[in-house]
Amino acid sequence: MSTRAQQYAAEVVGRERLSAHLVRLVLDVGVDPDLGAGVEGAGAPFGSTGVPDEWVGLIVPGQFQSRYYTVRALEGTRLTLDVVVHAVGLVTEWAMRPDCVGDRVTITEPKGSFSLPPGARWLMLVGDLTALPAMARIAETTDLPTRIWAEVPDDLPAYLPSRAEVTWIDPPGEGASDLARVVEGIDWPEGEGYFWMAGESAQMRAIRKHLMRERRLPSTHYDVMGYWRGGAVRQPRAVDPGPIWRAGKAAGKTDDEIWADYDRQQAEASAQQ
Ligand SMILES: Cc1cc2nc3c(=O)[nH]c(=O)nc-3n(C[C@H](O)[C@H](O)[C@H](O)COP(=O)(O)OP(=O)(O)OC[C@H]3O[C@@H](n4cnc5c(N)ncnc54)[C@H](O)[C@@H]3O)c2cc1C
Repeated sequence: MSTRAQQYAAEVVGRERLSAHLVRLVLDVGVDPDLGAGVEGAGAPFGSTGVPDEWVGLIVPGQFQSRYYTVRALEGTRLTLDVVVHAVGLVTEWAMRPDCVGDRVTITEPKGSFSLPPGARWLMLVGDLTALPAMARIAETTDLPTRIWAEVPDDLPAYLPSRAEVTWIDPPGEGASDLARVVEGIDWPEGEGYFWMAGESAQMRAIRKHLMRERRLPSTHYDVMGYWRGGAVRQPRAVDPGPIWRAGKAAGKTDDEIWADYDRQQAEASAQQ
């Protein structure tokens, strides 16, 4: 029996810039059911696990490494992923190009982690911009009272469902997070509930310790996932898309003109390295 994850071919059929750091991609996952021949389950259509924080691996053209993205929505064969574009990155740089529409990509079968314990009466969700898609989908699929702490650099008031009580937090800096401190200051509701959190890995490690040692939560009552690693592993690069995007919009430029500015600044930065 093969232990390889099932893979699916997909085509990028839509791309929308939601904000300075968030790009929505719509993939058609019904394009080539034969991809992954020899792997158990090959040929089966892509389907949701039904777990609201489910994610897929995404392999973009010319690459063999995957990066993980939350299934923001799946309607028929249309799969929506919301991709954070940060300072530098394999998927980031691909997703930033408007001409990624039409590209063929590979995705892996979805997996999920969210697991509400029986008896939970409330939900608390905490995360940065990479966790926003999962927090939105979780909040859309529950009737429980839900509080969300979202540490995001962009203005996205309509992204989360209005029934959730949302606290928006500015990140302390580009590519930085202070969520561990935020969680340590939270007032916890009475009774049993479920705490879900995702974001930068060092912050998540600190929170796991806090939940175990200070809050003494049983492990069935929380789920804390490192979605990306900051700090020492960052590669050198100076051009951040956020300010270029904002300046371009303020100047009334089209998306193409803004990306031309970005390309020019990136070329200048590379030439100086
Ligand atoms: C289960 C799961 C679900 C996820 N869901 C989403 C999602 O829905 N949307 C989403 O955008 N991301 C999501 N992520 C996070 C995403 O996989 C990582 O951010 C990934 O590293 C991005 O790949 P990249 O190719 O752009 O950058 P990489 O090539 O992986 O990294 C390049 C550099 O950028 C740094 N970096 C990576 N991510 C970030 C970031 N977010 N902010 C600042 N610096 C960063 C790295 O430290 C590295 O130095 C998820 C991760 C997991 C594990």
